[in-house]
Amino acid sequence: MKFLITGGLGFIGSSVIRNIIQNSNHQVLNLDKQTYAANLYNLKPIELNNRYKFIKGDICDKKLVNEIIFNYKPDYLMHLAAESHVDKSISNPIEFINTNIIGTFNLLKSSYDYWESISNPLKSNFKFHHVSTDEVYGSMKSSITFKEDSRYDPSSPYAASKASSDHLVRAWYKTYKLPIIISNCSNNYGPYQYPEKLIPLTILNALKGEKIPIYGNGLQIRDWLHVEDHVQALIEISKNGVIGETYNIGCNNQVKNIEVVHKICDILDNLHIEKKSVENSFRELITMVKDRSGHDFSYGIDASKINKELNWSSKIDFNDGLKDTVIWYVNNKDHYFKK
Ligand code: NAD
Repeated sequence: MKFLITGGLGFIGSSVIRNIIQNSNHQVLNLDKQTYAANLYNLKPIELNNRYKFIKGDICDKKLVNEIIFNYKPDYLMHLAAESHVDKSISNPIEFINTNIIGTFNLLKSSYDYWESISNPLKSNFKFHHVSTDEVYGSMKSSITFKEDSRYDPSSPYAASKASSDHLVRAWYKTYKLPIIISNCSNNYGPYQYPEKLIPLTILNALKGEKIPIYGNGLQIRDWLHVEDHVQALIEISKNGVIGETYNIGCNNQVKNIEVVHKICDILDNLHIEKKSVENSFRELITMVKDRSGHDFSYGIDASKINKELNWSSKIDFNDGLKDTVIWYVNNKDHYFKK
């Protein structure tokens, strides 16, 4: 198969590409703008493989997107390129409107034009997979977790831009019959993530001896899924996902932010690594800061559909995965300090 992956230098996209190149004979073309969140180091393990190619480019560049799709003729387009940080979407929303909405539209338009121009078997093989987030559903109102048909109720500009792109992708299926699939996943953690998100930020700040900021009271809850489990779900969807369907991906691992940070500090304490600016424990660096505006309190995903229909479930225990992640950042920290 020929995969076209967008956003493949980011956290999740790079994990997908490493997995495909290392565990199959498929080809991958990676289209990535190389924003601040991208990191060439993420693909070091496979960058010289002759089944992997990289094009530095912007999904907002219509002409480029069109040329790539028509020339490369992908079987499977997995769209992960996005502006992904909620805080940045509050301070600078325009980038989120451009990349997440207009960029997705460009990919849909060129994909449809391409798909209309080809015949079987290329035509019947083609699929457009949009990788999206559980944040489109907004904050949980009760203990009821989100299913695929839960109402969209995004809070942040990031979540609203991802909700918009989900709607566009569905419209291209309903209106033009473009073969699409959408997956909405909970918060990911693991190696190779840019240190603006809670887990890598906490680890790297601790290593530098800098304050570890926590929003509000730190009681916000996220369903943390290891990125490798997410990647297995995406691969499974690429093999057996049904056209037109949405799959929610999560693992029922709801943990409060403050607990996550405590766990990381405790792991670091137990590793007996050099402590900067603290006496006894990395917990001394924790600093409560003003809560994020519009901060969703809790997310929770009902992943029973993908569990039953595609036989996928998460494998990595949170405590084990978090410990491995902390150790990975300790060993690779020089490549991940904030740009
Ligand atoms: P990331 O921020 O780590 O990486 C995004 C990548 O997209 C970067 O390499 C960046 O250079 C690229 N990119 C940004 N704008 C681009 C543009 N205009 N053209 C081409 N490339 C561009 O993001 P991530 O955490 O890997 O997330 C990937 C996808 O998964 C996103 O669509 C995100 O919404 C979704 N998602 C993320 C999570 C999570 O916890 N990280 C959870 C659920 C869904």
